[in-house]
Amino acid sequence: MLTDTIAAIATPAGEGGIAVIRVSGPDSVELSDRIFSFKGKLQDVPTHTVHYGHIVHPSTGERIEEVLVTVMRAPRSFTMEDVVEINCHGGIISVKKVLDLVLEQGVRLAEPGEFTKRAYLNGRIDLTQAEAVIDLIRAKSDRAFKIALKQVEGTLSKQVKVLRHGLVELMAHIEVNIDYPEHDVEELTSNYIQDKCSESIAEVERLLRTAEQGKILREGIVTAIVGRPNVGKSSLLNALAQENKAIVTDIPGTTRDVIEEYVNLNGIPLKLLDTAGLRETEDVVERIGVERSRNALTDADLILLVLNRSEPLHEEEYRLIEEVRDKQSIAVLNKSDLPPTADLSYIKERFPEDRIVMMSVKENEGLDRLGKAIGELFFGGQLESNDMTYVSNVRHIHLLKQALRSLEEGRSAAEQRIPIDMIQIDIRSAWESLGELVGDSVGESLIDQIFSQFCLGK
Ligand code: GDP
Ligand code: ZN
Repeated sequence: MLTDTIAAIATPAGEGGIAVIRVSGPDSVELSDRIFSFKGKLQDVPTHTVHYGHIVHPSTGERIEEVLVTVMRAPRSFTMEDVVEINCHGGIISVKKVLDLVLEQGVRLAEPGEFTKRAYLNGRIDLTQAEAVIDLIRAKSDRAFKIALKQVEGTLSKQVKVLRHGLVELMAHIEVNIDYPEHDVEELTSNYIQDKCSESIAEVERLLRTAEQGKILREGIVTAIVGRPNVGKSSLLNALAQENKAIVTDIPGTTRDVIEEYVNLNGIPLKLLDTAGLRETEDVVERIGVERSRNALTDADLILLVLNRSEPLHEEEYRLIEEVRDKQSIAVLNKSDLPPTADLSYIKERFPEDRIVMMSVKENEGLDRLGKAIGELFFGGQLESNDMTYVSNVRHIHLLKQALRSLEEGRSAAEQRIPIDMIQIDIRSAWESLGELVGDSVGESLIDQIFSQFCLGK
């Protein structure tokens, strides 16, 4: 399968300045020569050079598109195969024409992810890096993009490889001592195993802790904005989104649907759910909204309870405060431009100081404080350490947990002075789980599954 030549449009579909067709495989240069006309032959040009010319129909001689063609010879290309990239500047129709012509030369249309799969199979990247390419394509925020980029560079793999190396040393140490059944050596070895397991466990746990943060950065903090009608929920959503997607009115209860929206606050992606307000009402339409809001409240990672600082607290707000105070929530005291009338001491008794934010959406005041408070709540203020590796892939998390279990079993077996050749089995299976993570021992079907998540042309 790796012997044929494949092609696809590598740029997103739709309107765009240029589109790139990527051709990869042993015949990519020769086949491109048949339809590319310029002064010379692609087969003769040096690698990593760009050439201006035209795509010409080989039998009719019709000029189809003005192009720039790049040649990258194996192994110095993304797939480690001969690659030709055709830059077309026309719209989608002419790009498709060029692709059709390429395919007519005996090139096969690439499956989604096939270029990246070849890069993996040819040893150019490891599995975590390949998966990071998927994340890169899907990244919803700058920070998610940076995390994925870090993985493409291989930081997670590096850390896992260090872990595995430590386990190999431990296994070697155990292997040597299996042959010395004297009691004191056995005793020493058990202690040594416990220490080494504890070290590895701490490292795996650290990686797993980053998973929750990684997930948040990748998918956004699911945020529910709740509060009585007219406190300024829609205004807050709009201020966050900086465009008027939700309806803002002076009539209580006009935001009827749960509107989903991604915003980026101080680099933290929030997936916002605006709600109709948690108001008991006889109005049917409004009630549907209220029920949805309750669901949003249960599903949310973060609750922004908006209160109107310029009015005394209402009966239902006392209930809301009770409902959210033990969750990941922030009390947003809005309308700080108006004189304060709400019972602030009541709120301060129920929320720690760093979870109370005064703001005036109207005066555009306090949004950055809200961002800080959220950063503090979810990342303990550590968000800025950009060289942190976040584990963010479900498969990685699963394998890390599996390795953790094996290591814990190994450690407790050592504590109970179980014969060390039995413990060796646990260490080995931890080592194997971690190997699977970086793709050292993965079956074909898993590989297919991973690469099928890509979009075409990657
Ligand atoms: P919702 O029902 O909670 O979604 O509230 P809206 O966002 O629709 O706002 C209700 C009213 O309060 C509108 O007239 C807003 O202009 C006004 N409002 C929102 N935020 C502020 C603020 O910070 N200060 C003042 N003075 N008015 C605000
Ligand atoms: Zn509203």
